[in-house]
Amino acid sequence: MRPRIAVIGSGPAGLTFARVLHRHGHPVTILERDPARDARPAGGTLDLHEGLGQLALEKAGMLAEFEALSRPEGQAMRILDTDGTVLRDWQPRPGDRANPEIDRGQLRDLLLGPLDVQWGRVVTEVVPETRDGVLVHFEDGRQETFDLVIGADGAWSRVRPAVSPATPQYTGVTSVETSLDDVDTRHPDLARLVGDGSVAVYGVNRAIVAQRNSGGHVKVYAQFRAPLDRHTNPDQHTNPDRHGDQNQRAVPGLDLDDVEAVRSSLLALFDGWAAPVLDLLRHGTAFVHRPLYALPVSHTWDHVSGVTLLGDAAHLMPPLGAGANLAMLEGAELAESIAAAPGPGDLDDAVRAFEEQMWTRAGRWANITTAGLERLVSPDPSEALALFDEVQPS
Ligand SMILES: Cc1cc2nc3c(=O)[nH]c(=O)nc-3n(C[C@H](O)[C@H](O)[C@H](O)COP(=O)(O)OP(=O)(O)OC[C@H]3O[C@@H](n4cnc5c(N)ncnc54)[C@H](O)[C@@H]3O)c2cc1C
Repeated sequence: MRPRIAVIGSGPAGLTFARVLHRHGHPVTILERDPARDARPAGGTLDLHEGLGQLALEKAGMLAEFEALSRPEGQAMRILDTDGTVLRDWQPRPGDRANPEIDRGQLRDLLLGPLDVQWGRVVTEVVPETRDGVLVHFEDGRQETFDLVIGADGAWSRVRPAVSPATPQYTGVTSVETSLDDVDTRHPDLARLVGDGSVAVYGVNRAIVAQRNSGGHVKVYAQFRAPLDRHTNPDQHTNPDRHGDQNQRAVPGLDLDDVEAVRSSLLALFDGWAAPVLDLLRHGTAFVHRPLYALPVSHTWDHVSGVTLLGDAAHLMPPLGAGANLAMLEGAELAESIAAAPGPGDLDDAVRAFEEQMWTRAGRWANITTAGLERLVSPDPSEALALFDEVQPS
């Protein structure tokens, strides 16, 4: 008999896992707490790396669809000094598809394809090794059992406590996000500033990054070091979008409900920066607060039969372009391992081997992104430029 497999969460990790398993003809139950497919804004843009996210899409048989939708020109990156001087202006070469961008909503729609997601299924707890298998509890009081439960439920995972006591810790950096619509016609100067890809400005312990999404939409991230001084409702159902669930946990010195007060606080925080850069904040619409959290670097656990984790649930790290990529590749690899297992009795060995592989790679990236955040939001802004020069091909 086929093992009963459930994946909790329909983010990049859960959907890639389900899609690859589906490709191999294995049934999988997808349980997602959002009440509907479009219940929340999908979020910003993601760059998918050749050997990570793109490899996962290849394993899902979806690389051509991705190539048709993605934006290789979105790899362009400009760095400015706080007075507006252009320090770097990097453009991808024609045909460069190392890290093309795709809107998170487009990627989600691509991955959802033929999958049948059970929406509005809010998991509260997972209990391994009961008589009938792994027991999943839901918010509405219902329960179901499975042979294997995959926790792909993000930063504040409800599955993680079944295998590990670790919880995410604040990194010391908060990101406040805003956005601009229809930028080419409504804000042509800002459209030119952002270009086809991203523009980043680094100051002392703070940064502003703006990224072009498709359809003339631009997301702006104001990042700064700040203590966590006020907690909002930790219930993750309040999350307004899908950026790795790292949001709405605390708001240092800002009144969440007052858009103009948030704008004024940010403009004061970045006082003295070049006017066109501050215009990104002046013209932004609503603000979303994202104190950045991370799990301990090299987070692992003693293997628990019947339960495992993928993506942010396993290794939440600073958002430096790796999280969704890792989440997707892990989803694809776990699905392939399960599909290759000769029988139900071999499932546990397949999961155990997958975990070892995931931990090694994720540990490497957690080190890179943790060190990267220290340098990008740093007392010495030249560190950010040095990091750019180290990682960007000339
Ligand atoms: C501002 C920002 C920008 C980023 N940019 C990039 C980038 O360019 N490239 C990149 O690779 N990474 C990026 N990341 C990181 C990336 O967003 C995450 O690493 C990625 O989304 C993790 O995917 P996931 O599937 O593990 O978790 P998530 O995307 O968080 O998905 C988890 C899913 O589980 C569901 N869920 C949660 N709890 C429950 C529950 N109790 N019951 C049922 N369902 C539940 C959620 O609703 C959600 O659908 C960025 C992150 C941020 C914050």
